[in-house]
Amino acid sequence: MPTFRHLLSVTLGGVLLFSSTLQLPLKSLAESPEEVRRFEILSDADQLYREGNIDAAENLYRQVKPEFPNSASSLIRLEEVYEIEELDGGQKIWQNALDGIEQGIDGKIFFNLQYLTENYPQFIPAHLKLAEFCQEDGDTCEQYAKEGGPKNAIEVLERATDLYPDDPDLLKAKINALAEAQQFLEAFIAARQFSTMFLDYPEAPEFAKLANQYLAAHESKIREQLLGQGITSTILGIGGAILNGDFRQGISGAQTILLMLKGESSFGEQAANARLQEYREQEKLLEDPKVTTYLRGIGSRFTGYMKRDFEYEYYVVKDDSLNAFVLPGGQVFVNTGAILGTNSEAELAGLLAHEIAHAALSHGFLRVAQASLLDNLGQVLPFVDRVSELVNSQYSREQERQADILGTRALASANYAADGLRNFMVTVRKQEGDAPTTGHSTHPATVERVQYLEHLIQSNGYNRFAYEGVKDHREIQELVRGEQLAPDSDLPVPIDEENLQQLEDLKAVFPSEPPSSPISQPLPAAPLPVGTVALTGKARRDNVEIRIEGAKVESTGSFSLNFVIDNQSNRTLTFVPSLADVIDREGNKVAAKFNLLESDSEDIVILPGTTRKGRVRVFGKNWSNSGQQDLTLVIPVRSSIFRISF
Ligand SMILES: [Zn+2]
Repeated sequence: MPTFRHLLSVTLGGVLLFSSTLQLPLKSLAESPEEVRRFEILSDADQLYREGNIDAAENLYRQVKPEFPNSASSLIRLEEVYEIEELDGGQKIWQNALDGIEQGIDGKIFFNLQYLTENYPQFIPAHLKLAEFCQEDGDTCEQYAKEGGPKNAIEVLERATDLYPDDPDLLKAKINALAEAQQFLEAFIAARQFSTMFLDYPEAPEFAKLANQYLAAHESKIREQLLGQGITSTILGIGGAILNGDFRQGISGAQTILLMLKGESSFGEQAANARLQEYREQEKLLEDPKVTTYLRGIGSRFTGYMKRDFEYEYYVVKDDSLNAFVLPGGQVFVNTGAILGTNSEAELAGLLAHEIAHAALSHGFLRVAQASLLDNLGQVLPFVDRVSELVNSQYSREQERQADILGTRALASANYAADGLRNFMVTVRKQEGDAPTTGHSTHPATVERVQYLEHLIQSNGYNRFAYEGVKDHREIQELVRGEQLAPDSDLPVPIDEENLQQLEDLKAVFPSEPPSSPISQPLPAAPLPVGTVALTGKARRDNVEIRIEGAKVESTGSFSLNFVIDNQSNRTLTFVPSLADVIDREGNKVAAKFNLLESDSEDIVILPGTTRKGRVRVFGKNWSNSGQQDLTLVIPVRSSIFRISF
């Protein structure tokens, strides 16, 4: 196994950082004797694997890693079929479709091809033919489309690639259809996908070249659009200023797009900086070079395989959930929960490979671009620091599969146990058993993912009995657990020149009144005050004032606040409910829903000289009688963020 030397040299950097004092049993949580034994066997196997004693290592891995259970095959997609003779039925229908083509009878063509694509989705030529006809004659295609069925070539191919994301013929057809429809950004991503996922195909370099052409076409289309909307060089100038500094500023759709035109890496870096700034303020970053070096070591084993020229950076976020995310351009954020919740380095590597695959396939970048383009260019769009949420929350099922496939291939290529990602999913599944999942609702069901990953590994002969890395992983877990237990230092930071400057900078960002003005509230009463409660507070800047005007407490203890946005400026404001938050003392978001009242619900514009009332319903907290809720309302309006504590 000659490639293993590479793996070892990368690992060494991480390993050498640990002193030999860490050889004691490392897991502090109670372990059953079987778990202890399993750990020891895996640890021995890893040792043998490192030494190049591959056969002996595999023997040990097999002792503790059972065969995959027999999956319920109904959940597994059928193998692609390219020859009609190999299809289990459907020959007559295919013949009818071909006759229809010969005779030029639209109905015969469409009905038969539609029937085949629905009932024999594994028969790839039917999708390709149907797409071809939809491309040639869009009107007829739309006319014959079934209710809810695909209405044009792109939709036909999207439905097919959703099932078969790793089929090169379908992907090629999709790239052509997208380019023809002038959806250049999507065509760019799809072409990039081809050159990334089908490295060993002769067409791969051609598609890499095409990808760049589509990207250029996309950019010039956007530039035209910006000019067409009269977006002047002044605004372009503001875009430049944002690049240099203040991430708290809300930015317009036009500016988001300008940032995007600077390229994925630069865009991702801006978003990451904003995110980092927020995490640092909330003391949510675990900045331990040993841990980041470890993660970088893992990532560096397969980022080369992903073929993107990104400078990957790794950060650890103090968050208990079993998750990680990567921003466009390769800024990787890993939760402490992911490090502590995984059972081996291979499992953690599986999660990282999946997330990095999203970035390599430009999924997040596409997501942001689509969100930007859907809206009117002048509207206020996600702050740069919201980008990470957008990127992280909304991948399509097809994109999830692509990331699973590419991630697993990358794992195998790096000599990790190829079932690292599959095992990660099993771990997620176990956690889901305890609590319902949130946030990842668009992800395909975990059970289904476990099964198709098993299928992927088996049908490609990827090696499950390779490096697991249990010992290094556990050392890092101990380190992370120790850091989490360490009490946060409450000592005031000594004020020196640099701190003073930072303080000044902060003031410039949050001038004058905020964070809060005093609140008034009735004296604490023994019973929970149900009903309306007097509560005030306000923040004012640039002739805009936001006030809290009373709260309403329900018998359950949950409550809502009334607020007013008073626009005394001469500019129109936009209030975006999804960008407003309620945060607790630690800076964590509390579940809350914002609404503007007396409006046609969608209308979020506040004209100059007018006031608008709104209400925020807080779900995550009960009303406290202590006189202070210890919460802060955070409402971004135009380029300011208003913070009102109550
Ligand atoms: Zn994903």
